[in-house]
Amino acid sequence: MMPSTLDQKASKSAASTDRGARVAELGFEPALYIDGRWRTSAGASFEVYDPSTGICLATLPSAGRDEAGSAVQAAQNAFGDWSRRSVLERADCLLRISKLITTHREALAELAVLEQGSPLGASAGGVDYAASFFRWYAEEARRVYGRTIAHPDPDRRLVVAYAPRGVAGVITPWNAPLSSPAKKVAAALAAGCTVVLKPSELTPLSALAIAWLSEQAGVPPGVVNVVFGDASAIGRVFVRHPDVRTISLTGSLRTGRRLYAAAARHIKHVSLELGGNAPFIIFDDADVARAVDDLVWLKQANSGQICVTANRVLVQQTIFDEVADRVAKLYGDLLVGDGFTDGVQQGPLITAGAVDRVDGLVQAALAEGTHALCGASRLSLGDAFYPPTVLIDAPPHARILHEEIFGPVLPLVAFSTEDEAIAIANDTPNRLAAFAYTGSLSCAIRCSRELRFGVVGINDPRPVTCEAPFGGHHQSGIGSEGGVEGLHDFLDVKLVGMRS
Ligand code: ADP
Repeated sequence: MMPSTLDQKASKSAASTDRGARVAELGFEPALYIDGRWRTSAGASFEVYDPSTGICLATLPSAGRDEAGSAVQAAQNAFGDWSRRSVLERADCLLRISKLITTHREALAELAVLEQGSPLGASAGGVDYAASFFRWYAEEARRVYGRTIAHPDPDRRLVVAYAPRGVAGVITPWNAPLSSPAKKVAAALAAGCTVVLKPSELTPLSALAIAWLSEQAGVPPGVVNVVFGDASAIGRVFVRHPDVRTISLTGSLRTGRRLYAAAARHIKHVSLELGGNAPFIIFDDADVARAVDDLVWLKQANSGQICVTANRVLVQQTIFDEVADRVAKLYGDLLVGDGFTDGVQQGPLITAGAVDRVDGLVQAALAEGTHALCGASRLSLGDAFYPPTVLIDAPPHARILHEEIFGPVLPLVAFSTEDEAIAIANDTPNRLAAFAYTGSLSCAIRCSRELRFGVVGINDPRPVTCEAPFGGHHQSGIGSEGGVEGLHDFLDVKLVGMRS
């Protein structure tokens, strides 16, 4: 067999460092995966880069309308058999995928560092998280219970059943290259749907690893397909093709709006996870050391590029200076660098363009009277690196307090009363996650009620697991990932009436 682009990449990079040597061992092609076959395309290609070094990792074929159409056709052809299989058979496949992910934990973590940049330990956590969804949905597939309803006529029966929707078009972003596809693919397969997965073109390799492991786990050809390249063209196929019955996107509000509007024409189900603008409130009765530790832990994840990360830190006036000092010291001291270097706590952002955007927000805030306690200027490490930055005194209208920063910047805002904190926290249409730290049970209960978000963490920086539904309110989305609710995003309700 000809050496794949991944093999070439591995040997090239191995000449300078060992990075990527394990990736070649994964053995899958950097190609489209349609109907159980690894395919190139006659058309254009694109490259995937390591954000830390700028090294080209792989050259991949670019899919457009035709390839997406073939993938949908393959998924539709596979749907009848897959959806009729015994639920145990489907669950066994999912369990095997989960185990295979764990078997390849180290190599998959390295792959995530390479294409996405997050430090190795955190990337390994992402691999475990991905495996947990396949295991959870393997277990949960068996518990799709319907119900019976007493009919007024004793000779009749009413049964509420759940049926797989059909082909699912799944679109995922770059910030969780393995776990984001894993969440959606696992739920779809458990429900009995077949999938065409379109990962981000910045990080398609981890998604291909899911296809490769599905194949090894005995998932039949056509049940999982992976295409990428021309996102708009593939999105249009998902929206217009009559066989795609549900679309699940994690991405930006802009893309979500576009898909939702287009899908409306064809009356298609959509699940949308569209990012947040999370407030992190610290009241003066909180355990301040713990709150700051948790804040920094949450914010350092993926260089601030996760949708539940703290975007605005609201601190009660009485403890503001103490908290600001602690945050600046702890966050400002994080070791920034290449994800393979021992001890590194924060890797690069996804691209140099992401740094430009984040720095633009910071500089605009500084120009309006905001002060930086640390960071706030580019690093010489490389174009994609930005330092942990802590800001105070941002004026209430500053863009940095209203936009999703998606980078390593923590603006701190002082408040006086609980009501004021809640009002500032809720002053956003992006209602994915909110956090509140307090030692008072009463305040905790009020915050859990008054914070109008899909996920609320009270003294808890990450209440998100495979067992629980995760999704936003308001403009942060529709539907859930994880939990029983995530499975129901791929199921239709069916009423069956029977008469004796
Ligand atoms: P982000 O800013 O996080 O990259 P995007 O919404 O741009 O968010 O991207 C999330 C996913 O949506 C990616 O896989 C991207 O390729 C895809 N995407 C972007 N635009 C479209 C579109 N018009 N149709 C379908 N998918 C799209």
